[in-house]
Amino acid sequence: MCPAITLETYMEGWARVKPERAAVTRAVLAIAAAAQSITDLVRRGGLIGNLGAVVGGNSQGDVQKALDLRANDLLIAELRKAPVAVLASEELEEPIALDEAGELAVALDPLDGSSNIDANVAVGTIFSVLPAIHNGGTGMASFLQPGHRQRAAGYVIYGPQCAMVLTVGKGTLIFTLDASKGSFRLTGPNVQIPASTREFAINASNQRHWSPVVRTYITECIAGKDGTRGEDFNMRWIASLVAECHRILSRGGVFLYPSDARPGYEQGRLRLIYEANPIAWLVEQAAGKATNGVQRILDLVPSALHQRTPLVFGSSEEVEHVARYKSEQTVIPPRLPLFGERGLFRN
Ligand code: MN
Ligand code: MN
Repeated sequence: MCPAITLETYMEGWARVKPERAAVTRAVLAIAAAAQSITDLVRRGGLIGNLGAVVGGNSQGDVQKALDLRANDLLIAELRKAPVAVLASEELEEPIALDEAGELAVALDPLDGSSNIDANVAVGTIFSVLPAIHNGGTGMASFLQPGHRQRAAGYVIYGPQCAMVLTVGKGTLIFTLDASKGSFRLTGPNVQIPASTREFAINASNQRHWSPVVRTYITECIAGKDGTRGEDFNMRWIASLVAECHRILSRGGVFLYPSDARPGYEQGRLRLIYEANPIAWLVEQAAGKATNGVQRILDLVPSALHQRTPLVFGSSEEVEHVARYKSEQTVIPPRLPLFGERGLFRN
C-alpha cells in the first residue's frame, strides 16, 4: 500500500489554485504542528505532573486545568508564525493581536473535553479560521462573522489515535497522525454521515431542566419500539464534544446540548464561535446538519466572543425531526398525555 498523502501535500495542492489560500494553509499547518506537541503532552499524562490539576478560572467561570493553558500557549506560539492578525480562545477573555498584516482570524477551543483528562478519555482542539476584518478596532469584528464565512474549520482529537478532521469547503477529511514520521496522513478522504440514525447523545442528568420539546423528543427515543418512533434507540454520552462529533462522523447519530431551565443555561452550554461553528461546518460538509434546534448554526450572527448556543447536530433526518418538534410545540401535549397530566408543558 502506498502511503496516504500528507496534510502538507494536500493543503499545498489546494492552495496552488488560488493565492489567497496560502494564508489558510499556513494557519492549518501551524495548528497541526501545535497539535503534535499537545498529543505528546496528553500521552505522557501523569508522567509529567498533574495535567488535570485546576490552576485557575477563565472569564466565563469555567475551571482552567494545567493542560488547558499549556495547549493554549502551544497553539498561540505556532500561530504567531502564520499570517494571523488576531486570535481568540476560550482561555482568553479578549482577542489578542498577532501579525498586524495578517489576513486571518483564528478562534480556538485549545482543549475541548478537559474534564476528561484525568479519566484518559479523548480530548481535542477545535479551531475556526475566518478572514480578518481590519477596521482599526480590537479585532472583535473578525469574530462576529457568521460561521458560513469560515475559511477552514476542524478539530484535532487526542484519542487512541490522534487525528485532524478538517474542512476547507471541499468535504470533510480525516488526517491521522503517523507519530513515527511526524506527519498527518489522509485516511478519511470522504467522510459521510448517514442521513438516518438510531443513536442519540445528550446529558440525561439534566432531564428535569429540559424544555417540553426536548423531553418529548428523548422520551419518544427511549420508548423505542413501544412508542411513536416504532424503533429502538441507543444512547451515548462522552461529555467531550470532539469525541461525540468523531463518533457521529464515523457512524451517524444525533447530538443535543439544548438550552435548559438552569440559570446560565438559557443558551445551552457550548460556544458559538469556537465550538458550534467549526463543528457545524464539518458536519454539513459530511452531509449532516447542525442547528440551534431550529436555525442553521452557520447562519447565526454572533454578538459576543464567548456567546453560547444550543446545539443539535448529526444525521440530517434526525436533526430535521428535532427542528420539526420545535416548530410544532403547540401540538406536543396531546401526543404525550402523561406529560400533559403532570402539567410539564407550560409554554
Ligand atoms: Mn470545549
Ligand atoms: Mn476548552
